[in-house]
Amino acid sequence: MNKNYNSEKVFEIISGWFDENREALIALSNRIWNLAEVGYKETLSAEALTNELKSRGFTVKLGLKNLPTAFVAQWCNGTGPVISFLGEYDALPNMGYEIADAPKPTGKNGHACGHNLLGAGTLSAAAAAKEVMEKLNIKGTLRYYGCPAEECCAAKAEMAANGDFDGTDAVLRWHPQNFTYVSMASTLRLNELRFRFRGISAHAQTQPHLGRSALDAVILTDIAVKYMRELIPDNHIRISRAITNGGGQLPTVIAGYAEIFYAVSAASREDSQNVINRMIKIAKGIAMATETEVEIVYGAACSEVLPNKAISECMLENLKKVGAPKWTEEEKAFAAKLDEDTSPIDKARTMAIYNITDPRVLETPLYEGISENMIENGIGLFSTDSADPSWVAPMGSLFAACAPVGSSVHSWPFTVCSGMSIGHKAMEVAGKTLVLTAVNLIANENVLKNAKAEHKRLLAARPYINPQNLVFES
Ligand SMILES: [Zn+2]
Repeated sequence: MNKNYNSEKVFEIISGWFDENREALIALSNRIWNLAEVGYKETLSAEALTNELKSRGFTVKLGLKNLPTAFVAQWCNGTGPVISFLGEYDALPNMGYEIADAPKPTGKNGHACGHNLLGAGTLSAAAAAKEVMEKLNIKGTLRYYGCPAEECCAAKAEMAANGDFDGTDAVLRWHPQNFTYVSMASTLRLNELRFRFRGISAHAQTQPHLGRSALDAVILTDIAVKYMRELIPDNHIRISRAITNGGGQLPTVIAGYAEIFYAVSAASREDSQNVINRMIKIAKGIAMATETEVEIVYGAACSEVLPNKAISECMLENLKKVGAPKWTEEEKAFAAKLDEDTSPIDKARTMAIYNITDPRVLETPLYEGISENMIENGIGLFSTDSADPSWVAPMGSLFAACAPVGSSVHSWPFTVCSGMSIGHKAMEVAGKTLVLTAVNLIANENVLKNAKAEHKRLLAARPYINPQNLVFES
């Protein structure tokens, strides 16, 4: 234990820092919420975060290999552990909503995953950790990784492949959620692929015999993949899709080109590979049958999270010290309105995904308290590119309640809550918990030593393979 470490003193410095900086953090979060820039277009959001980090004494490198809106901000006061925080700031297309208790779409992009809170809250942790280390003369390095395009493009997996996280001793992250907990659950890995069909355009009424329809190929592929889903193991495999090019605007033109875009999520590399190879067979078979040609384009990919018990336990202790967000009666009444159209059974189903099965949870519109269930050995039914840094260094994952119980991320209530006091409270709880955990990892060598030993043990049994590296049917 570092001789300058004193848990009461650390808590006092952190509380003082948040009292002094609360308004500035809320303003930063709201600015990113209003900008609502989508993946790889987060220029102004990245600028807002990097300006703030520079003004607080961090050295910033904006623009990493092939990723102009990614950045690393670093502060170092001597030899010691390197603690990295993961920040995000991308929005979702067409998810803009006014702050109101009924859905009022703005027609713009929006923060329906709360990444504005994530970006600003993580910054608060890095900046407050610096303050503690300066005041108590604790040596080490802090890094804030500005990670773009989480929603669309798995930028962190690319950053991991490029070696951007190298030299990190531990990684800390948080994400907005509908309840408050530390997660030991893994996640689903993800592989994206597109089938681009090329046919022959012709007049659909006068010369249909000359045409070969790429749209038909897309529709038949979509149907065949749906049939295939009845015949694959019920093993947390998710196949979702968007028809990103329907072949044109006019029914009188036979579609010469059309595209279907798939996201395949699975709990293991073997499952991903197996399912994707069967989908490729379908697309090739349909191309043959429709006399079109298919081009297969592989897209973003990310791994499953490798959880770390040593960091998670330390984080949960710190979360309990900070305490859960405390809601006012007005906030509870407002949240209840956001959720009033969701049936109790659907809410229960949503919470059961996270192993929250106590029916009393549904009696309150906003989650109170802290769930001590870390969902160890569980699998979160979603994918995140935060998984890939967890294979580089041990990682702790925190989730803080900032939306109605039973609501879904990527929905309008999340956009609304992320731009108001409900989200701001979650952001502060997360920021304080992350900074306490960072200081623990730097000042108490045992926690970090255990975390690293556990990480090494897991990696020895299961080495990291770049998630892009599946063996596809030729
Ligand atoms: Zn998200």
